[in-house]
Amino acid sequence: MDRVRDPRPQLESLIPYSAKDVRADVVLASNEHPANLPSEIVDWLATRLDRFAFNRYPAPLADDLRALIAEANGLEPGNVLVGNGGDEIIFDLMLAWGGPGRRILDMPPTFAMYAIDAQATETEVVCIPRLPDFSVDADKVVERVAEGDIDMVIVANPNNPTGNLVPETFLIDLLNATDALVLVDEAYFEFSRHTMRPHMERHPNLAILRTFSKAFSLAGLRVGYLLGHEDVVRELTKVRQPYSVNAFSQWVAGKVFRERVVFQQAIRDLMRTRDTVIHNLSEMDGVEVFPSEANFVMFRVEHAPALWRDLLHNHSVLIRDFSRTPGLADCLRVTIGSEDDIQRFLDAVRDVLAARRASQFMTNGAVSRTAEGEEVAY
Ligand code: PMP
Repeated sequence: MDRVRDPRPQLESLIPYSAKDVRADVVLASNEHPANLPSEIVDWLATRLDRFAFNRYPAPLADDLRALIAEANGLEPGNVLVGNGGDEIIFDLMLAWGGPGRRILDMPPTFAMYAIDAQATETEVVCIPRLPDFSVDADKVVERVAEGDIDMVIVANPNNPTGNLVPETFLIDLLNATDALVLVDEAYFEFSRHTMRPHMERHPNLAILRTFSKAFSLAGLRVGYLLGHEDVVRELTKVRQPYSVNAFSQWVAGKVFRERVVFQQAIRDLMRTRDTVIHNLSEMDGVEVFPSEANFVMFRVEHAPALWRDLLHNHSVLIRDFSRTPGLADCLRVTIGSEDDIQRFLDAVRDVLAARRASQFMTNGAVSRTAEGEEVAY
């Protein structure tokens, strides 16, 4: 045969999640930690590497790691599911609670993978968009779930890419209004310090998602975890890939989790840098900055795609362009990086905006002079 049969028609309108293939000196685009693992941890791993069993399959449910996570959260290992990044767990949830004939409730603009995974699994998505200030439309959401036909609700808290938290009272109202599985995605928990963990005992339909990718410098090893009722975890084990979290990632994540206090200072430093970013951007003419409880900041600026391009091509600074996302016209998101990288980002934005003002001034000048009959073109 000289051709391949088409895949499921549902894939036709799906756009792959944008792979990170753009190179830049300063990368502030994926909410990663700016620093690699602390050297003490790398040294500890290095001295034991020759005894690491690369030849053996990993523990299917990452038992050592899930026991550590469970203990730290006052739970049993059966309440924890470790995944190949939070992304895999979101997909597993969609396989188990979504699927053909099933419905999830999404509150865009939010993390794009919820809708992408829903489409891939033929899960219907009921959208209740956020309000212009990016708060959730709480009454509408609670009313809609009370109709009883929603199977899963996902709330990113803080939300990515807008950076804001929802009120805890909203989440409690939501949990009281429905038996749908409510996933509170706390991927940025270590920065926001807000968690729904205390509500798990009262609400078996509450599940919490966390990740090692942000505060713990492990985005490259792909480790995330879910906290939930043991029945929820058991259902997810029916659809997950048995060896999805590789043995090396389990081992490193275990060490990182045991040493997690070591990461606290860097988290505090990142939060201080975030406040500097918010302050500096808000002082720039024509820039609207949104508050953030996470390790990134979203801002709105006229001709955002042009600014994004200028930052990349003229300053080698890569941030994320959300300007084509519904509800996020002219919005860009910058990840909080090292102080040096953030300084380069802020200088570059100032530079581009100043050049823009200068060229507008020249253009306006040209217009008036042209009106006077001079042949000046800009
Ligand atoms: N949830 C949210 C809200 C995120 O922003 C991300 C990462 N961008 C994830 C989940 C997934 O993170 P990971 O797969 O790296 O654990």
